[in-house]
Amino acid sequence: VYILAIESSCDETAAAVVKNGREVLSNVISSQIALHTLYGGVVPEIASRKHIEKVNQVVQAALDEAHMTLDEITAIAVTYGPGLVGALLVGVAAAKAIAYAAKKPLVPVHHIEGHVSANFIEHPDLEPPFVCEIVSGGHTHLVIVKDYGEFEIIGRTMDDAAGEAFDKVARAVGLGYPGGPKVDKAAKEGNPHAMEFPRAKVGGSQYDFSFSGMKSAVLNYINQAEMKGETICVPDLCASFQNAVVDVLVSRAVAATKEFGYKKLAIAGGVASNSALRAGMKAACEKAGIEFYYPSPIFCTDNAAMIGAAGYYEYINGVRAGWDLNAVPNLKLGER
Ligand code: ATP
Ligand code: MG
Ligand code: FE
Repeated sequence: VYILAIESSCDETAAAVVKNGREVLSNVISSQIALHTLYGGVVPEIASRKHIEKVNQVVQAALDEAHMTLDEITAIAVTYGPGLVGALLVGVAAAKAIAYAAKKPLVPVHHIEGHVSANFIEHPDLEPPFVCEIVSGGHTHLVIVKDYGEFEIIGRTMDDAAGEAFDKVARAVGLGYPGGPKVDKAAKEGNPHAMEFPRAKVGGSQYDFSFSGMKSAVLNYINQAEMKGETICVPDLCASFQNAVVDVLVSRAVAATKEFGYKKLAIAGGVASNSALRAGMKAACEKAGIEFYYPSPIFCTDNAAMIGAAGYYEYINGVRAGWDLNAVPNLKLGER
């Protein structure tokens, strides 16, 4: 089964060809980061326009790189939510047009299921059930992947997503957008114990998260230093903030995996490429006798290969979209 996948939910126009859900034959990503950096974040209208310019080229490049023609493709998979509505619509419209013209089935894919499925690409042995911690720009979820495409949410953020907190802290210290990779890099030169930021506890479930308190503590620290005319050591601040985030992400995920009796833990989403999170999770899982899975950085942030992986399992489960498929900007995980 060869899936041609299209992803355009945010600021990456991406297309990929994936064989049997696990083998990536091509993975083309046209990033708009440079364009949005000017504004300190993604501007939805600009994102949509750029997707329109790029989508056909990116799809053709994905086919070329895979040395395949549209005839040889089994089905077209596309992200239909969650994300920016105008951005999603470009991918959805392109996928519909291609599927209709080439007489191929159209498979709707949930963006977050895509992030989780990035783990299938490089781990041929990984099969559900397992626990997955999804840490992206807009989501922070702890889920049990019961089966392909079947999720039970056991924890979620009550406020900011992990990636959002990274982006806001980066902006506050002038590192620019997107902040995650820049904080990660600066933290390598800093002392993670230089400052103590609160590890927020929240009401709900013991597996819920809260990052806005941590972010506010960092912003307060910056404001106070400025008022006193002190200079901030940016690497120390980044390392200390990152340490607080990683602490919470690692301890909750490992505790949940043990509590629910699973032996496998995966991470997914842009923040899963964070070097401290990967190292911290690896050490904690080794200690707890849990098998730890994580995708290569290129499959952590938005890409279409992960949509091809998720799309394959949706395809073999018989999931199909009609020509009336629409973008669903606030699509929830586990919903169709
Ligand atoms: P969502 O998937 O929730 O809709 P998104 O698609 O915008 O949101 P992703 O592409 O999964 O999010 O990830 C982008 C986020 O990951 C950004 O917030 C970015 O700062 C963060 N990120 C990327 N690399 C790193 C890193 N090395 N360390 C920490 N955060 C990172
Ligand atoms: Mg992005
Ligand atoms: Fe994403």
